Amino acid sequence: LRYLNLILGDQLDAESLLFDDFDPQHDRLWMAEVSAESTEYLSSKQRTVLFLSAMRHFAEQLKTDSYPLNYWTLKDKKSSFYNALSATLKHDSFEKIRCVLPGDVRVMNEIQQCANDVDIEIEWLADQHFISHKGEFKAWLADRKQPRMEFWYRQLRKSRQILMEDDQPLGGQWNFDKDNRKSFGKKGPSKLSEPLLFEADDITKQVITDVENFLPDLYGDIETFNWPVSREQALAALKDFIQHRLKHFGDYQDAMWTDEPWLYHSRLSTCLNLKLLSPAEVIEAAEKAYIDNDAPLNAVEGFIRQILGWREYVRGLYWSYREDWLQMNALNASRNLPALYWNAETEMTCLHHSVKQVLNHGYGHHIQRLMVTGLFALLWGVKPKAIHEWYLAMYVDAVAWVEIPNTLGMSQYADGGIVGSKPYIASGAYIDRMSNYCKSCPFNPNQASGDNACPFTTLYWHFVDRHQDFLSKNPRLGMQVKNWHNKSQDEQQAISQRAEYLFRNLP
Ligand code: FAD
Ligand code: SF4
Repeated sequence: LRYLNLILGDQLDAESLLFDDFDPQHDRLWMAEVSAESTEYLSSKQRTVLFLSAMRHFAEQLKTDSYPLNYWTLKDKKSSFYNALSATLKHDSFEKIRCVLPGDVRVMNEIQQCANDVDIEIEWLADQHFISHKGEFKAWLADRKQPRMEFWYRQLRKSRQILMEDDQPLGGQWNFDKDNRKSFGKKGPSKLSEPLLFEADDITKQVITDVENFLPDLYGDIETFNWPVSREQALAALKDFIQHRLKHFGDYQDAMWTDEPWLYHSRLSTCLNLKLLSPAEVIEAAEKAYIDNDAPLNAVEGFIRQILGWREYVRGLYWSYREDWLQMNALNASRNLPALYWNAETEMTCLHHSVKQVLNHGYGHHIQRLMVTGLFALLWGVKPKAIHEWYLAMYVDAVAWVEIPNTLGMSQYADGGIVGSKPYIASGAYIDRMSNYCKSCPFNPNQASGDNACPFTTLYWHFVDRHQDFLSKNPRLGMQVKNWHNKSQDEQQAISQRAEYLFRNLP
């Protein structure tokens, strides 16, 4: 036989290069459900079921289209990609293995190792799913002293002519971030329409049974599963978002509300990351909504920036630092991840709701990830690798290339400033402004010391104190160090005591 074409769980892309010159006489497709990807490298029930169900739906389509496919299921009890691949290669011989660049360097190394051991050539094909071409980010980065997402985003907008009028941005501004920070005020969100939720079909039900039988100890709930698992469902989810929620996406992008996990967010990250949707078609649909007057520019630009800007940017950075990411710890964080991340048991209302939502749905929107679960880990001083493993395991859309730069870079500042120019730190007052969580919390977001002090606020000042040398060098955070020094010695001492108390007695 000629090519053994591997399709990994996040490569469900019928347009991928594997299919370009596929010859059913001489080539085979290959997919594998392996247990290590949920147990050795933790993955929650929701995330595992999502990946496996989407894989089985994709495989069904391949069979309908008469592609010859070798598919290992959980029942075949292959523990790792290495084992599954060597079993296939023992049975049939091929001239070459081919695989689109994986989303995780670790997986790439494992497959490469297997190919080396079996002594077969392997070709890594470019991932055409993304908007930037192979080498484009590297060339851009090489010319930059201080790379920032904003300039990469502008370059892509110009070169792809997205929301542009010749060489000028539509509306005369590159971004509308200032308009996109509204909270819901006291009344809460109005006009919310429930997004399209997808009930488990027979394939998903079978996956749930298999996961319960073969991977019984995974974290989180599964009865609540409602993610799109096929190309057809992904297209329906995109249409639903563009029609019903995009128009408010900009305004309320950063706002949070109890028991409203989706608000005006798209829920499209899983479809994009599994490659059921292409970023180009999502951006095109959003741009069309603006042209057709169905959504305002601040919403459409804000949404497109996330995909064309952030998503393409973090991918470029992931591949620029590869294995180095997991060694990064710029702030020398050394504490273990508190147990509340696995069970949501805490008196802190914001953390309780944000973690509960992750256990229920494998989802939190960007600000919950950055300014609640991420912020607390940063202020607490959790080891970067421990918080990374939690994010990778628990969010349905987590794949290393996107999760790692967001967690270790943007959220934990373990990279010392590669992704963002400063650590995202804030006190409980920020959470109070952007949500209703504090209203039902026993703590007071404005209090830094004493029994009612909000742990975020106490730990914020403790963070400023312990990192003051480095923070005072940053023009945007130096002010906070000054504010710390403006506090009386008594107040500083009371805050430090409360912080020490919290480290011993996490509420
Ligand atoms: P929306 O709010 O509707 O945004 C639209 C799309 O923009 C998303 O679907 C996503 O594809 C893209 N996007 C938005 N922000 C980012 C970003 N910072 N980086 C890359 N793409 C972005 N996103 C993941 O896809 N997988 C992850 O594992 C992941 N881990 C994260 C960890 C942390 C600590 C933080 C702070 C962010 C993380 N993000 C991750 C980014 C972002 O939070 C999610 O993409 C988003 O919340 C997904 O929900 P949505 O589809 O409703 O997004
Ligand atoms: Fe969270 Fe503090 Fe507000 Fe409580 S008071 S919800 S801990 S920010």
